[in-house]
This record gives sequence, structure tokens and C-alpha cells, in this order.
Amino acid sequence: MVSASTLLKKFANVNHSVIDSYEFTQNVNGEDILKINLHPYKTYANRCPVCGCRCKVYDRSKCTRMWRALDCGGVIIELYSPTCRVDCPEHGVKTASVPWAFHDSGFTKDFDMMATFLAMNINRSVTAEFLRCDWHTVMRCISRARAYIEPDLKKRYAGLVNIGIDETSYRKGHSYVTVVVNHDTNTVVWCAPGHSTEVLSRFFEELTQEQRLNIKCVSGDGAKWIDACIEKYIPHAWRCVDSFHVVTWAMEALNELRKESWRDAYSNQKKLTLELKRGNGRPGKQDKASLKLSEAKTKATEIKNSTYTLGKAPENLTPNQIERLEMIAKTNPKLFRGYTLKEHLRMALKMSSRDEAKAELSTFFWKATHSRISVFKELAYKIRRHEEHILNTIDSKLSNARVESINNKIKLFIRKAYGFKNIQNLLDMILLGCSNILIPLPNRGGLGLKVA
Ligand SMILES: [Zn+2]
Repeated sequence: MVSASTLLKKFANVNHSVIDSYEFTQNVNGEDILKINLHPYKTYANRCPVCGCRCKVYDRSKCTRMWRALDCGGVIIELYSPTCRVDCPEHGVKTASVPWAFHDSGFTKDFDMMATFLAMNINRSVTAEFLRCDWHTVMRCISRARAYIEPDLKKRYAGLVNIGIDETSYRKGHSYVTVVVNHDTNTVVWCAPGHSTEVLSRFFEELTQEQRLNIKCVSGDGAKWIDACIEKYIPHAWRCVDSFHVVTWAMEALNELRKESWRDAYSNQKKLTLELKRGNGRPGKQDKASLKLSEAKTKATEIKNSTYTLGKAPENLTPNQIERLEMIAKTNPKLFRGYTLKEHLRMALKMSSRDEAKAELSTFFWKATHSRISVFKELAYKIRRHEEHILNTIDSKLSNARVESINNKIKLFIRKAYGFKNIQNLLDMILLGCSNILIPLPNRGGLGLKVA
């Protein structure tokens, strides 16, 4: 038979402490609560939360502090312990640390880790409901977990060879985060709020001279602030433009053309409706006009619903989408021309050698500038301006799919973290989520687990 104290310690997963007493109660919502009063072993008491040194007691609090542990069998577990402040020679007066929780946290270490793991893998409302706490609490858990798992973020700078730089909008308006990705490990190495030369310079300043010299390729979109930083800090590196950014430019141009075509089709439909309403009484003409109107309506609807079809590659189209594309080819040759131009560009980026890609890009330039579509003309000149960087990407063989997947992951975290109060929480979520770190959950061996 194990003692109640041992059992409670196992349930709450608290070590290095003594259980003084416990009681079962219910809160105002009728939920069962197990309150455990405990105190740390002498060797773990009176320690500075920053350096872990044993220090002199500065003062003792008259009341006890509470920490929430992970629920057990649907019962909320709360830990209560008297606290004191210690006077660390190095860090000054601080609340003494306890072995079961991180500094400045009202939750146990296990709770922080579990919250982080759930927030990374399931949606925010399910996480908050499951843990019976609000989302902002979960975000703070993530920051504490990140700081514990990886106290020195500079370790990520070791062995950087191919890096990607990207900015992503995290709030409506002009709020961005700049993210630096290691292409070889597919992890985020650095991120910060804002997007400018000054922001990115901070990253390069943190690198040692040797680390800077080690960098061979830098990819990103065509932003000038990235160019400026590369020129200043790593002029020897190859500048590349990620293929998926180039395809995005083409998609944006195509979408602009689609909107324009829809506006034309819609105004034509409105004009025909008016004509039909006025009518001049001759039955033959009336029939023709209504036929024209129904054709115009179909055309406008086809264009309106074609966003997904136009965005997809021909090999991925469903039978319905193929039919829609054929319809567009018949009724709206200009829009279809835009689609073929986008596909031409996409295929050019898939070429395996620099020369082949260069030839394909030249053909694209000629076709686009002669397409009589202004948005594609602009795109052609933009591509020409960045041609050297696009060809560098093809030469360096940076995997486009990996860059895209990490970009989507970041966007997913931003969407999840929407409404967060502190930008640092979001950055921690990105750093932890876009890495190869294994979160030390209790069922993975707990905090004793060495992280990858
Ligand atoms: Zn200290």
C-alpha cells in the first residue's frame, strides 16, 4: 500500500517536496477541487529563481501561494505553499523558487508544457476549454516553456548556410514580423516584430563574423530592405528569390485580371438587364435580348467562382474545374491567356538548370509584354528586375516546398494567436513551433527529457 502523500505527489507530479495536508472541496461552478498543501525539501527551499543559488531569506509572506497542476480524473488540482523572498547577491530580492513551477508562474511546469503542446497542435478554443483556463494564460505558458527549453536562442545560429528571410503580417494594418529560416533544418532561427533594414540588421549584428561568412544563400521576396542588409553584412552571399513568392506575384496579377474581367462582365450584365426592361415591344428582339442576358450572367458567375480553378495547376484540377476552365477559355480568352501565362512562369521556375530557366523566362517576358494585359506586363518587368535572383534560386536548388510549408506554419500560428496581448508570446510560439524541439511532456519522461 502506498501512502496518501506518495499518491498525491504522483497525481500532481511534484517532486522534492513534502505534502502537509490536503482537502477535497468544490468551487462555485460545482467542480471538484483537490487542494494540496505542501512545502519544498530544505535543499530546494530559499533558492534564487534566476540562478538557483541558495540565498538568505529576505522576508516571509503571511499568506500562501497557489499553483494549478494538471487536472487528474476531472478533478482540478491546486497546490498551496507558503512563500518567502530571498536576497540574492547577484539578482537582488526575488520570490524564492519552488521545484514544481517556473518563476512568476501560477501553474506547474507540467501544466506549462502540456498547454504549449496542445496550443501547437490543436485550435485555441479547444486548448483553453480542455485546460480550463483562458487563451492568454496559454500564451504565457508557451513563453515560459520556450524560455526553459531553450534559454540560449543563439545556439540556433550555429552552422547557418542557407537562410530565408520573410515578413508576415500578424495584424490588420501594417503590423509585421520578420522571420529568418534555416533552409537546411527547416526551422526558424530568429524572429522580431517589424520589417525594415533596422530590424533585420539586429539579426546580423547578433551573428559572429565567422557565422556571417558561413552563409551562402539568402532567399526571400524581392524586398529592398533585405537587399540592403545583405549588401552591408554578407555581400559574398547569393541573393535568391523563393519560387513561391514569384508564383504568388503571378497569382496576384491573375486575380487582379479576374476581378477586372468580372467587373466588365457584371457591368455588361447590368446593361443588358436595363435594355431588356426597357424593351421595344418586338417579341423577336425580346427573346434575343433575354438569351444574351442569360449568357452574360453565366459568364459573370463563371468568372466570380473561378478563383480556386485559376490558382491551381492543370494537373491538380478536378473534372468540374476543368470544365470551368474550358468555359473560361471559350468565353473569356483574355483571362485564360492570363492563366496560361501564370502556368508558363510556374513551369519556368521548375527548370533544373540555369540556362533552361533563363530561356523560359525570356519566352515568358516576350509573351507577357505582348499579351495586351497590363498587370502581366508589369509582372514581366518585375520578373526581369529580379531575374538574376530567380536564377540564383534555381542554381542553389533551395527546396521551394519546404520554404512554403514553414511559411504556412507561421501563418497558422499567427491566425491561432490572433488577439494575443503580447507580441513576445507570438514570437515564442513561432520559435517553438517551427523548430525540431520535442516538448518534454510528462508522458515523454517529463522535464528530465533531453530536448533534440
Ligand atoms: Zn540569483
